[in-house]
Amino acid sequence: MDLSKFLVQPNTKVKLSDFPSDYTCKYKSKDEAQGKLIDNIAEMADLQDKLYADDRWALLLIFQALDAAGKDGAIKHVMSGLNPQGTMVYSFKQPSAEEIDHDYLWRINKSLPERGRIGIFNRSHYEDVLVVRVHNLIKSLKMPKSLLNDNIWDVRHREIRDFEKYLSENGIVTVKFFLNLSKDEQKRRFLKRIEDPSKNWKFSASDLKERQFFKQYQKCYEEVISETSTKYSAWYIIPADKKWFARLVISEVIVSVLKSLNLSYPKLSQEQIDNLKVYKEQLLNEK
Ligand code: ATP
Ligand code: MG
Repeated sequence: MDLSKFLVQPNTKVKLSDFPSDYTCKYKSKDEAQGKLIDNIAEMADLQDKLYADDRWALLLIFQALDAAGKDGAIKHVMSGLNPQGTMVYSFKQPSAEEIDHDYLWRINKSLPERGRIGIFNRSHYEDVLVVRVHNLIKSLKMPKSLLNDNIWDVRHREIRDFEKYLSENGIVTVKFFLNLSKDEQKRRFLKRIEDPSKNWKFSASDLKERQFFKQYQKCYEEVISETSTKYSAWYIIPADKKWFARLVISEVIVSVLKSLNLSYPKLSQEQIDNLKVYKEQLLNEK
């Protein structure tokens, strides 16, 4: 699949209307895409095993979206073949009192994946330039008043770029997914959550309130993605109206990023190989 369709090149001005949310490439149905997704999940498991054994790189996958875009489902399905020992998932909610008492990257830093691991962020530091901006929450945070200038969002975008560059220079590869959902499809999904008893628990009245800010969020996402897609840490805009297609593209991106690291199992020195022969002898000659 040509992933460049979804990749946001550095220094481009993103318009979400240029990214159709119902795009499905050559695939016409979930069944058609299923085989490729299964292959990708298997390949990801194999690459994760090498990532873990190599123990140098870490991969950080960031998922951002409006409500009901399918972040949770994508994480559940795409990561289903991974070894839980090498994976960490964090969901970032409204900050706690302790988190508010720190800079906004504090909780992010604490949750970064160790080398050899895959970290998955369900929401992230991007909330601090999205929900915080759309709802003007910055005033209720404990920032010194003199630092709350009009250019606070430019400052934060620059901080995020710098932070992600720092991560990349330390072997933590970040990949960012924006699940691009249409307003109509969001409505359909909310209605399903209300009508289907097994999905009732997923519905929250606050999601409807947020829906009223759909346009503002889209505008804000356009700016944030334009400002923070870099060669160190790229954004992918994933068509999310068809969940099965979103999952397929996400799996393709993850496989291609892991492959680009040229991972391999650690090679033993001649001395270590010779030692293995000795250990084998010892085991075979056990009385
Ligand atoms: P679900 O699919 O289960 O609804 P969710 O990610 O929407 O998943 P919720 O518990 O519904 O999880 O919502 C978390 C809320 O926390 C979101 O509305 C998000 O915008 C908000 N949030 C996350 N980070 C921050 C932040 N730094 N400041 C303010 N609000 C935040
Ligand atoms: Mg929610």
